Amino acid sequence: MTHAPLFGAIETGGTKTVFAIGTADGELIACERCPTADPAATLAIALAFLHDAVRQHGPLQGVGIASFGPLHLDPRHPSFGHLGSTPKPGWSGFDLLGTVQGQLGVAAVLDTDVNAAALAEQCWGAGRGLDPVVYVTVGTGIGGGVMVHGRPLHGLMHAELGHLRPRRHREDMDFAGICPFHGDCLEGLASGPAIIARHGASLSELPAEHPAWRIQADYLGQLCAQITLSLSPQRIIFGGGVMQQTALFDPIRARLQYWLGGYVGALDSADAVRNYVVPAQLEPNAGILGALALAIDSALCRRDR
Ligand code: ADP
Ligand code: ZN
Repeated sequence: MTHAPLFGAIETGGTKTVFAIGTADGELIACERCPTADPAATLAIALAFLHDAVRQHGPLQGVGIASFGPLHLDPRHPSFGHLGSTPKPGWSGFDLLGTVQGQLGVAAVLDTDVNAAALAEQCWGAGRGLDPVVYVTVGTGIGGGVMVHGRPLHGLMHAELGHLRPRRHREDMDFAGICPFHGDCLEGLASGPAIIARHGASLSELPAEHPAWRIQADYLGQLCAQITLSLSPQRIIFGGGVMQQTALFDPIRARLQYWLGGYVGALDSADAVRNYVVPAQLEPNAGILGALALAIDSALCRRDR
């Protein structure tokens, strides 16, 4: 038995589902994964792991779930805690929160995988001690999680920074973009699959002088400028597969300064912008740590209430 308070965490991803138990300090005590199949089969494995963890280590104070979307996160909505319509077989309309809560018998809390990663980066990673913080993942899609006063921002829904529409780069006037909703929004122009659709290769396969790099840095620099002007965070954190290309960071910072046009004095110096646009620190564990952080945060709220 472990004596520290323990929390459960589940991260359902497009291809794999990760489950873990951990402490209030963000230490994962046990962590396993399985492929994401239909919800019943996938959760059976995750919940069996958590039941077993309780037998070995003691009771859980709560469980956090970080999931791919879309999710109904408004507690007043009749479908609160359910998935929205998704192409993943069996998941559309599935009551993820209710199923986990019902089968484990402890309080569960659900948020998007991106918001959860943002929360984890703020608690334990590149956003420590800063608020607001914005986390952006550039991978199969582009998603943004916004942390304000230590909580992921929810309103009408959650922020959808990846679908903002940038001004087109002059070397990229012909590509239509691949977002099924908007064509040439950021996700349609600058996600991993968009880069491959435009250039027939990912950035890792293209030489540094290839226009793909300038185009990518410009679009993400525009995103940073829009985030800065609308949310005024203390830091923007980038994660996701595409951002493994660390050579993108300096050009993104330069394009951010270009698009701000000297208007935001706090970002005029190279040092300031280097400290403002930074790589994520918790990858590849940001999602599962975010689920853990959701559980901890929710248990603290219940105690304070
Ligand atoms: P997901 O978004 O599905 O969770 P990733 O964040 O790994 O997964 O993003 C996958 C996308 O990122 C793919 O389109 C791939 O082309 C691109 N990608 C993954 N790794 C790299 C890399 N090291 N360099 C450049 N692009 C990458
Ligand atoms: Zn879009």
